[in-house]
Amino acid sequence: MEKKIIIAIDGHSSCGKSTMAKQLAKQIGYVYVDTGAMYRAVTLFAMQNGMYPDEGIREEELKTAVSNGEIQISFKFNAETGRPDTYLNGVRVEEEIRNMAVSSRVSPIAALPFVRSLLTEQQQAMGEKKGIVMDGRDIGTAVFPNAELKIFVTASAKVRAQRRYDELMNKAKTEEEKAALNYEEILKNVEERDYIDSHRETAPLRKAEDAIILDNSEMTIEEQNSWLLEKYQEKIKE
Ligand code: C5P
Repeated sequence: MEKKIIIAIDGHSSCGKSTMAKQLAKQIGYVYVDTGAMYRAVTLFAMQNGMYPDEGIREEELKTAVSNGEIQISFKFNAETGRPDTYLNGVRVEEEIRNMAVSSRVSPIAALPFVRSLLTEQQQAMGEKKGIVMDGRDIGTAVFPNAELKIFVTASAKVRAQRRYDELMNKAKTEEEKAALNYEEILKNVEERDYIDSHRETAPLRKAEDAIILDNSEMTIEEQNSWLLEKYQEKIKE
């Protein structure tokens, strides 16, 4: 049997990490973990429980909730979509965690050291048996510094914002939802998250020294998927 490895895919917001990570996991029979969804779920929890009003995060309250184990995040495979859905305390939150309200609040939550240590620990436990493709910002640097294959994905902010806009437009169910989408607002959100993610003190977004860079600005989804499959195949032959 082929050896199982850990594949860490990090990079900027909306650069197509999860699309390629998901596809590779499916092809090679690995578990796929979207760590951004976990930070988003914690953000949604804070919002739902009055811990993230406009004035800012109520850190002490959130910290207490974390230490009391009040935030349970899990994934369940959805046969219809062929991908895992995110659950917060047993409730499916897959759509809510992707909306703009959560997107615009998630990076400050992800900068909190106690949130990072909670989620990092859970992510490390998920990778104990290897055979995992995990995407995020700090997988190759902080979660699995010894991952066998590390990829750092990027693309220009404008390309990423356009992709995100197209994705949300495709998902929008009503004309109203479509009209509410604003490219400039999405671009601003992408740039803001890049900045906060790269400048925070704990586990900032940066390329691991041994990560392979992929700039997919000019690539199609098929091209990036086969690029990644090739990198995996080279790695397991070593
Ligand atoms: O990947 P996604 O864009 O869904 O992630 C949402 C946010 O979660 C990121 O902008 C970042 O602030 C945070 N995140 C993180 N570390 C990870 C994954 C996501 O800080 N490993």
